[in-house]
Amino acid sequence: MSRFWSAVVHGLTPYVPGEQPKLDKLVKLNTNEHPYGPSPRALAAIRAATDDSLRLYPDPNADALKAALARRHGLQPQQIFVGNGSDEVLAHAFMALLKQDRPLWFPDITYSFYPVYCGLYGIGQRVVPLADDFSIRVEDYLPQGGERPGAIIFPNPNAPTGRLLSLTDVERIVAGNPYAVVLVDEAYIDFGGDSAITLVDKYPNLLVVHTFSKSRSLAGLRVGFAAGHAELIEGLERVKNSFNSYPLDRLALAGAVASVEDEAFFQESCRKVIATRETLVGRMRALGFEVLPSAANFIFARHPQRDGAELAAELRKRAIIVRHFKAPRIDQFLRITVGTDEQCAILIEALREILGR
Ligand code: PMP
Repeated sequence: MSRFWSAVVHGLTPYVPGEQPKLDKLVKLNTNEHPYGPSPRALAAIRAATDDSLRLYPDPNADALKAALARRHGLQPQQIFVGNGSDEVLAHAFMALLKQDRPLWFPDITYSFYPVYCGLYGIGQRVVPLADDFSIRVEDYLPQGGERPGAIIFPNPNAPTGRLLSLTDVERIVAGNPYAVVLVDEAYIDFGGDSAITLVDKYPNLLVVHTFSKSRSLAGLRVGFAAGHAELIEGLERVKNSFNSYPLDRLALAGAVASVEDEAFFQESCRKVIATRETLVGRMRALGFEVLPSAANFIFARHPQRDGAELAAELRKRAIIVRHFKAPRIDQFLRITVGTDEQCAILIEALREILGR
C-alpha cells in the first residue's frame, strides 16, 4: 500500500485473478463468454486490416461503425456512442450522465461494477432490493413520497440472476422518471429479450448500452456502444474527448463493422446458445436444482441440499470453473455460463457425480 494513494484507491478491491485461470482443458463457464467463435466475416475483416495501415491512427470518430450500428437499429449515427467494451462506455456514462445531485438507484443484486464506478466518481447510491423471486419491481423505481432518483441503472436481463424485465416494464420505468436518465445495460439482451433501443426516439432520458463481448463473441476485441438521444450521446462524447482518446483501434473497428453486417451469423449464433441453455436448464432441474428463468447466456441455480461454495469448489477440482458470489442472498447460487453442448454435458456429468445421483 502506498501512502501516496488517494482514499479512492484504498477503497478499491482488485478483480479476482482466479477468474481467468491459465489451465489447459478447462471447462470455463465463469465469465459469460460466447462458446463459439465470432463471425468469419469479422475475422476476415480483422485480418485484412492487419497491414501497413496500422501505422496510422484509427478514425477518432469511429464513423463507419456508428453508421453500421445506426443502420442496424434504425437510428441516426449521432445517436450512437462507441467505446472499448461496454465497461468503458458505462464508465463515461457514469461520469457524464449518472453523476447527479441525487443518488443513482440500482438493484441490490446486480453487475458488481456499478458500486465501483460510484466510488470512483463520488456518486451517491441508493440500492433497491430485488423482490423475493429476484425480479426487479417496477414500482420501486418510480418516484415515491417526494423521493426521486438522480438517475437509474440496471442490466436487462439482470446479472447475475439472468431475469428479464419485459419491454413494457422497462418503458414504465423510463416514462415514470422523465427527469432522470435511465440507463439500461443490455449486455445479454440478444439471448431472449426485446431491446429498449426501439424506445430511444420516444424518450430523451433513455440510454441503452450494448456489448460485442457476449452475443457477438468478440470479448477479446473490446467493443461496446450506447444508443440514445443525440443530447445524451453528446454528453458521452464530451467526456471521451476530454481524454483526447480514440474510441477503438483499427482492428476493432474493422471487425466490429463486419460483425454488425453479418446479421444471419449473429441470429444463428444466438439461437444456438439459447437452445443449449434450455437443454441445460432442463437437465439441472432434473438434478434437483432450482434454476431462475434466464434470458441470458448464463443460468443462476442453487441446490436445496448442497452448499453453493462447496459445489463450486467440487467442480473446480474437476477443472470446471463456474462463478460463485460470496454475497448476501445469493451465496447458495452458482452462475454458470452456457457453454458448448459438449461442455454442458461434461458439467452435468460432474454434477451427477458430486450429488451421487
Ligand atoms: N454489463 C454487464 C451486465 C456485464 O455482465 C458485463 C460483462 N462482465 C459488462 C457490462 C461489460 O462487458 P464488456 O466490457 O466486455 O463489454
